[in-house]
Amino acid sequence: MASSEWELVCGLEVHVHLKTRTKMFCRCALEYGAAENTHTCPICLAHPGALPVPNGRAIEMTILLGLALDCEIADRAVFARKNYFYPDLPKGYQISQYEAPLCGPGRFKLPDGYEVGIVRAHLEEDAAKTVHAGGATGRSVGADYSLVDFNRGGTPLLEIVGAPDLRTPEQAVWFLRHLRQRIVDLGISDAEMEKGTLRADVNVSVRRRGEEGFRPRWEIKNMNSFTFIGRAIAAAFEEQKKAHEAGEEVVQSTYDYEPDTDRLTVHRSKEEADDYRYFPEPDLVPVEPPAELVERLKHELPESHVERIVRIAGELPPDTALALAEELVMTGNDWKAVALNKEGVEFMPAAAIAMNRGDFLLENAPALAKIVEANVTREALDEAFAAAASGPIDAADYLAQAAVADESELRPIIDAVIAANPEQVETYRGGKEGVLGFLVGQVMRESGGKADPRVVNRLLAERLRQE
Ligand code: ZN
Ligand code: MN
Repeated sequence: MASSEWELVCGLEVHVHLKTRTKMFCRCALEYGAAENTHTCPICLAHPGALPVPNGRAIEMTILLGLALDCEIADRAVFARKNYFYPDLPKGYQISQYEAPLCGPGRFKLPDGYEVGIVRAHLEEDAAKTVHAGGATGRSVGADYSLVDFNRGGTPLLEIVGAPDLRTPEQAVWFLRHLRQRIVDLGISDAEMEKGTLRADVNVSVRRRGEEGFRPRWEIKNMNSFTFIGRAIAAAFEEQKKAHEAGEEVVQSTYDYEPDTDRLTVHRSKEEADDYRYFPEPDLVPVEPPAELVERLKHELPESHVERIVRIAGELPPDTALALAEELVMTGNDWKAVALNKEGVEFMPAAAIAMNRGDFLLENAPALAKIVEANVTREALDEAFAAAASGPIDAADYLAQAAVADESELRPIIDAVIAANPEQVETYRGGKEGVLGFLVGQVMRESGGKADPRVVNRLLAERLRQE
């Protein structure tokens, strides 16, 4: 069967560091880039008998995110121990949430209206950071030695599990960008991949169009670049399609993506599948968020940037509306960035003209785009942009008083002026181009002074060359 019949089934699991002042279960300060092992205490170092105390602000931030993603907020969430051994986990378990997460099913709508399901979102703690040093590769295998920095251990970590609703690598990256933007706008995390405060695990499987159920999936762990995520998904999609078509078995496994070779290598296979032996954390009582708290957080929700994109796009010319509105919102209304962006080329000339005109209120973008598109005079444009910096403007005001630069309106006037001035036209065609100024003046007068002289100049010269 043709490979085009395969479709991608992809879901993302996203981890973000919450921007609290202190760690999840102790009062150690969170400070990115601090000297190693300077923010530790008996709790986050797992000394015997030390007891965790949950960070209330982290719980609020998780509920806020849940509300932003339309999730059901649990009446009762339970912290659970996820047991495994690793040197960066001194307790021998991570405190997470398992059967009773804070946030249940929800959804995230992309600007084009496509909805990506959210399976759940829960609160947990991050592990410390292991640094592998020396050796041939600098990776855990082959390193001469490894060091652990416990500053990161116990950082509040929000895990968002997305449904396998993503159908192309581009859509997956798009989803992640918008989810990130929402998180940043909520003020709960910096969500910076370069700093590791946003990490994504990618689940990829394939199926034939219309097929029910799921085929084995590959999980690609700890991706920290949008570009690599897109490439890793594309690579996994291709490899799985090929394997299924060749009748080879696709084994459910964890993979690493190697950007240098654009290849996926097996990290660990199904045989060693994790058994975390989850059980409720006996040192913590369940979290029962009061209804008043949830209500208050609802009111703290800032407007969704996706809704803003959709609202602004609704007022822009349809062909580039969504892309332009998205660029505007995602770049923080920075026309210069929009214009310089390679996709921004299609927004010229609006962006190009605007980029030299300083700032204006985002709400005025649709009006400005209309005014720019109407090709009004430079004076009218200057006026509109100046006004757009301080308050709302109405495109109609500027279009009404704007000079006529629309070629279809100017052509009949130009034709009339040419017909009425045969001598000057002859002189011009005889080589005395200085007479063009006189003809431009006539057109300006006929238009009641509203014509754009630059446009008239160009149209007249074109017209005079024609005959
Ligand atoms: Zn601590
Ligand atoms: Mn997790």
